[in-house]
Amino acid sequence: MSIIAGISTPIGNGAISIVRMSGEGALEIALRFFSCKKIREGELIPNYMYLGTFHGDNFKDRCLFVYFKAPRTYTGEDLVEFHLHGGVTVTQKVLHTLLQNGAIMAENGEFTKRAFLNGKIGLDEAEGILGIINAESETEISASYSVMQGTVSKRVKPIGDRLMKVVSMLEAWFDYPEEMEDEVNSDVFPELEAIKTDLEALLSTAKQGRMVHNGISVVLVGRPNVGKSSLLNAFLREERAIVTDIPGTTRDTIAESIVYKGVRINLLDTAGIRESTDIVERKGIERSLDAVAKADIVVYVLDASVPEKPDKAMTEGAHGKIIYVNNKVDIAEEQGEYRNISALKRMGIDELLDEIVSVVGNKRMYGEMLTVDRHISAVASALDSLNNALNNRFASFDCLLVDLKDCLTSLLEIDGGTASEKIIDDIFSRFCVGK
Ligand code: GDP
Repeated sequence: MSIIAGISTPIGNGAISIVRMSGEGALEIALRFFSCKKIREGELIPNYMYLGTFHGDNFKDRCLFVYFKAPRTYTGEDLVEFHLHGGVTVTQKVLHTLLQNGAIMAENGEFTKRAFLNGKIGLDEAEGILGIINAESETEISASYSVMQGTVSKRVKPIGDRLMKVVSMLEAWFDYPEEMEDEVNSDVFPELEAIKTDLEALLSTAKQGRMVHNGISVVLVGRPNVGKSSLLNAFLREERAIVTDIPGTTRDTIAESIVYKGVRINLLDTAGIRESTDIVERKGIERSLDAVAKADIVVYVLDASVPEKPDKAMTEGAHGKIIYVNNKVDIAEEQGEYRNISALKRMGIDELLDEIVSVVGNKRMYGEMLTVDRHISAVASALDSLNNALNNRFASFDCLLVDLKDCLTSLLEIDGGTASEKIIDDIFSRFCVGK
């Protein structure tokens, strides 16, 4: 493989910047430009930082240099790093020097891709690294950390191994039908049923896992003027608001994210999509119902000062939990039957947030959950194939084997064993250059 080089820190002026280079021969290129007394005297200990000088064509920088020796490196190849003074020009000039002397520019995520191609990490573990880089809350960090540690493949692998045994047994039976018949009937189908139970258990963690990874989506509904926008503001006032685009939201919806007790909550206020003309109003209602159907939690805001019953039409199609709240309790004559709050006076807001975040469960369970969409889809399609196999078990031997092999392929996709080039490229393109 070629020698790749890239800047591993964000471009901008800072205390330090790191230029990385990986591949057989990277050390030789590096030592043409880096010098320090100890290395000149013959010492070069891997994983040690050396303070010395980078000698460019017409520039120099005092920097730290470290050499990681293959195969015990991030990429599995010889890897070097220059820790430079963090200036944009000096960093780019160091990179250009390496590029002019045998290295080629690394693509997005190419260092991590090499780690995967060299068998250092599974594809799922690479996704864990990506998750940590992009995490916006503590829960996302813990979930991604556990993915990076390989917990998903550790759970899936034994299931795949058992399935592989069944497939081998069936293939043997195909060759020696008489000798194997009893064994197949008594062992194979109970084992397939057991595998199915395990896959179902794994998949049942996906709903919470998605919330842990992507945040809990909460939609605020209720009549105009009940205090939805005020409630959104009350949420935002206390907690750290994240300014990012939430997928699936449009400009006229008010969408904000906050982090509460380490959990991301993606809030959507439907007030903004129910305004002005009839056509807009109708479209607004449709969109509001669409948001309700996709939400993990619907907060139905009622005005405690004007007794009213919830309108079922507003939560039609909801799949998640519905929490009814009586807002404006500060001016109400009596307390209502639902959770009493005052968005204006900030009464009962933390208790409401506590109820919202309780849906992701206990922190200790994050490691057990499927949190990455790709892993969830793979397990779901493995389960589909297994169900097909079990439902058509007496139809044809060939079909049974095809379904079981499809099941196996889906499971092996998780750590990348059977993942297509497209899937692999797609994952690494989401990394930055230099990672
Ligand atoms: P929305 O149309 O549902 O988004 O309602 P708004 O948030 O715009 O609130 C409508 C009116 O109710 C505003 O005048 C708010 O100040 C007021 N309001 C909202 N929450 C409370 C509350 O808890 N107590 C009181 N007294 N007034 C509130």
